[in-house]
Order: sequence, then structure tokens, then C-alpha cells
Amino acid sequence: MIDIDKMTSDQWLNYREDLIDAHLAKGLSLTPDPNCKTCDSVNDYICFECECSQIDKGRSLEVCSVCSCEFSPEDEGGVIGEFGILPVAFCPTCLCCMMDMADQFRGEDDENV
Ligand SMILES: [Zn+2]
Ligand SMILES: [Zn+2]
Repeated sequence: MIDIDKMTSDQWLNYREDLIDAHLAKGLSLTPDPNCKTCDSVNDYICFECECSQIDKGRSLEVCSVCSCEFSPEDEGGVIGEFGILPVAFCPTCLCCMMDMADQFRGEDDENV
């Protein structure tokens, strides 16, 4: 586990940049909260607290590779894995449909495998 308390400020900044990169790489955005008094949505400024909470939320969320919905593997299920080197995530609905489809294919192709 990463111990934020023991980090130097440089390490912490790097760590934070990684978090933001990972967040954006998921296709999630960091947007000012219109309900927050510190955020400035006109200038696209997001305050530290909102940034943190959005990153935290993003960390527990995956974006489904099929339907692009956001889901929480911990709370909702679904699966995270890799197709070769390609990281993929499937929401519970798409996972279920894929299993059905795979079953259908498997049934039809039994003799050819
Ligand atoms: Zn804010
Ligand atoms: Zn999906």
C-alpha cells in the first residue's frame, strides 16, 4: 500500500499526477462542481476537495469496454481483465450478455474446436 503520510511533497505530487492521468485515461473528466462555492465553472477551475472526491470516485469506477457505462466492480460486480495486452472492463450487464453469447457460440462450435 502507498503511505501518503510518508511521502515527500515531490513524491506526493507525482503520485497525484499519476492518479489524475489514470482518471483521465478512463475517459473520466475532472469538472468543477456547480454546487461548490470554491469551484469556478466559468474558468474551469476545480477546487482541491472536489478534485480529490472525483478522483476517489473514479478510482472505484471502471468504464465498461462495451457500453461505456461507469460501474463499480466492488459494488455491482462485472469483471476487469485483459484481452491479450488490452485492458478491458465489462459491466455486469455486458458480462452477462457476453457469457450468454459465448455459450451460444460454444454450443454451435463444439464439433469444430
Ligand atoms: Zn469544489
Ligand atoms: Zn457494459
